[in-house]
Amino acid sequence: MSEIKVTPMLKQYLDLKKEYPEEVLMFRLGDFYEMFMEDALEHSKTLQLTLTKRGEIPMCGIPYHSSKHYFHKLISMGKKIAVAEQFPDAENPSLMKRDVVEIITPATYLEEENSSSISYLCSIYFSKPSSLEISLYFCALNAITGDLEIFSEKVKDVPNVIRRFLSLYKPKELVLPPYWSEILPKHFFASEPLLINLASPYLNSEQRAKEIVLETYAIQSPHVLGLEDISPMFYALAYLFHYLQNNYQQKFLSHLRYPSIIEESAYLRLDHNTLKNLEILENNETKNSKNSLFEAVNETLTSMGERLLKLYLIKPLRDVASIKERQNEVEKLMKNVPSLKEIRSILKEIHDFSRLSSKIALNKILPKELITLKHSLSQILKLIPLIKHGQFNFFETIKIENISALLEKLNTTLLEEPNNQLSEGGYINEECNPELKRLNHAKKEGNAWLLDLLEKEKATTGITSIKIKYTDQSGYGFEVTKQHLKNIPSHFILSKTMINASRFVTEELLKLQEDIFESKEKAIFIENEIYRNLKETLKTFLREMQNLSNEVSRLDVIQSFAQKALRHHYVRPIFTENEKIDIIQGRHPVIENKVEAYIPNDLLMTKESRLHILTGPNMAGKSTFLRQNALIFILAQIGSFVPAKEATLPIIDKLFTRIGTSDNLSEGQSTFLVEMSESAYILNHASAKSFIIMDEIGRGTSTYDGMSIAHAMLNYIVEKIGAFTLFATHYHELFDLNRQKAIKNYTMSIEKKGNKLTFLHKVVEGSSSHSYGIHVAKLSGLPKELLKEAFETLKKIESSLLVEQRDQTKLFDFEKNLLKIEEDKATKTLSEEERSAITAIKGFDVNTKTPMEALRFIDELKRQLD
Ligand code: ADP
Ligand code: MG
Repeated sequence: MSEIKVTPMLKQYLDLKKEYPEEVLMFRLGDFYEMFMEDALEHSKTLQLTLTKRGEIPMCGIPYHSSKHYFHKLISMGKKIAVAEQFPDAENPSLMKRDVVEIITPATYLEEENSSSISYLCSIYFSKPSSLEISLYFCALNAITGDLEIFSEKVKDVPNVIRRFLSLYKPKELVLPPYWSEILPKHFFASEPLLINLASPYLNSEQRAKEIVLETYAIQSPHVLGLEDISPMFYALAYLFHYLQNNYQQKFLSHLRYPSIIEESAYLRLDHNTLKNLEILENNETKNSKNSLFEAVNETLTSMGERLLKLYLIKPLRDVASIKERQNEVEKLMKNVPSLKEIRSILKEIHDFSRLSSKIALNKILPKELITLKHSLSQILKLIPLIKHGQFNFFETIKIENISALLEKLNTTLLEEPNNQLSEGGYINEECNPELKRLNHAKKEGNAWLLDLLEKEKATTGITSIKIKYTDQSGYGFEVTKQHLKNIPSHFILSKTMINASRFVTEELLKLQEDIFESKEKAIFIENEIYRNLKETLKTFLREMQNLSNEVSRLDVIQSFAQKALRHHYVRPIFTENEKIDIIQGRHPVIENKVEAYIPNDLLMTKESRLHILTGPNMAGKSTFLRQNALIFILAQIGSFVPAKEATLPIIDKLFTRIGTSDNLSEGQSTFLVEMSESAYILNHASAKSFIIMDEIGRGTSTYDGMSIAHAMLNYIVEKIGAFTLFATHYHELFDLNRQKAIKNYTMSIEKKGNKLTFLHKVVEGSSSHSYGIHVAKLSGLPKELLKEAFETLKKIESSLLVEQRDQTKLFDFEKNLLKIEEDKATKTLSEEERSAITAIKGFDVNTKTPMEALRFIDELKRQLD
């Protein structure tokens, strides 16, 4: 680049950019936010803006009025934005001052209206490892509600546990210790749409971290928070608090709640793979909620309810009493359909006032948003009597007087259709302040006064075409066209000459203008004051509003369960202490909406039949059946009803899924290794109270290896773990493995007429004798000649020894064949001499020979082999 002339404005920019090198610096110039240099080069592309030049410097800008849209785009790419506003500079009137007033970060941006996503800002603390096990400390701050969750875990497998944390909370930002990459692979976070921040090096002592935590909460002892005097959790908390302070986001700390300490044992544990494989919140293909469990069951009507439903889905409960409480409420609503209908019609009208109350806490609330809040509150006032009347257990701790008072305050203070520009006025109801009313009157009167004056001057001058004009620069003036200038009286003072006309002021006009301006300014000042007071009053209601939003969300989720159950014939699951799963006519909540006629299936598992092997060809419905049962457990333990005719279930502690390579090709890693390490993870973590689904294990390697491993795993699960397990495979050979009493065989029933194959999607006891691979291939539309050749080859293979033997016994004795292969392998690699030596040893009778003879025999063998 050629010499750049550093203008004073550019110098301001460069100075600010030095302070905010990581952020996208938005530099206010008039009605635009401008980006320069690197920022401009990069984001003219990402934001599709025209790249221009100021002198030699690349530049691009966004209009101030549509900045929200662009900010949103940037933060969704995981960027931070530093917003520099302009101010008049008293010392240097010719140049505006510019200062960064706000840093917008992905997790703290609340302008996204009606978004159902939860904005988490998270931190993780861990020390540098000194032993195999590392303690991890997690914090997750819900930026909208101020809810803060903390928990710690002692782990060996750090990446897996962190991955699970990420899929649970989906943080938009994460604060990590500066040395994180010593423990995790460098690119560990690369695939996440996530902003990684390093904790300040200042936070390198626990004492310091603790002080920040105590200061933030303004408390003396950590016991108030349920923390011990010494706890590495202080680091994780301080990481967050310090980060917010450093980013001009202290305001977030004002609505921060005390941390809830998450007890892992309270929840059904879903690990990273389970969350992903079961497509609970997000479909793996669409990468959004379409075709996810969430979408299938979601009947919520508010964004608040939607967010809570998502939280429920990833955190099913383990406590039967709490689950039953939810079920009871669902049932009550189902039995009272008119109330349900009415509740739903009211909920539809309730806006996301959880987000609005955060904006109150952050002092960012605008008049129009308060009107939205007002309407939502008045809907809640309609809702509460309905709830009381139906004896539903919601809003019990809410004081109606408080809501009414709040509503009254908003009603009397704000105009129904307020102006949103605080600096312009026009949002406060003048009835609440006599002075404002008087000034507004003067403002309106001003127009009449002006008209009166105009009429008077028309009369005195005799110029009827005289007009009053207003400009921002010079205020009011009489405009007189050229031909009448000769008739201008002496009290008209010339203020501006134009080509065809001139403008004049009179003393009277100036006086009038002063009155009008003054009343305008004063009115705005008073409106500002009233608004400020209103915001302060609203802050005193924050706790109440947060409680209210909790209750609305909870009601919304429960009514969603009820609505879903009614519309799609879900049933209330019964929980049993016995080790028994009995699902009658279960359905897959997502697939049943996608196919014309979904075939329901039963699942009966007991202590004596804890592991089911499900065989059947590809496309027969095995994977669907496995997932359907896993999803039924999740729905049951969040308190929802389930897609089945009847369901009796135990409470499970963990849910594991292992989906085989064929169904999960996208990862591109060494599939076999991944499969084995994931299986190892399951075997190491599952308990007798867990539910495991394994789909097509052992595909990543040769048939025999795969089957042997699968076989060993099944035995291990039954003997050592005792978890309820569904195991699907198209290796029909595996069905003969049920030596174990607790293993039962099931298969997908098939109807075969000639060469035509129909999948009945029905699970029946027994096992399939055939893979029908070629039949399935036929369905796919492969060329006829190709299929014909495949049939021929299959016939040849089927007439070979292995299959003959199977036909004789009617069963394929897997283990025996496995051994036979081993033997074959062993003998095949032996030489002629070695084989005859072995024969000789076998024939040597130790009992009838002397030691000397034995020695000679060995000597002879050795010579032969050499
Ligand atoms: P597999 O795992 O045996 O290869 P899938 O479970 O993937 O088979 O099922 C293949 C397809 O069959 C599904 O996408 C679905 O369209 C259909 N299907 C599966 N189960 C059922 C069922 N119970 N009722 C109706 N259609 C089903
Ligand atoms: Mg499958």
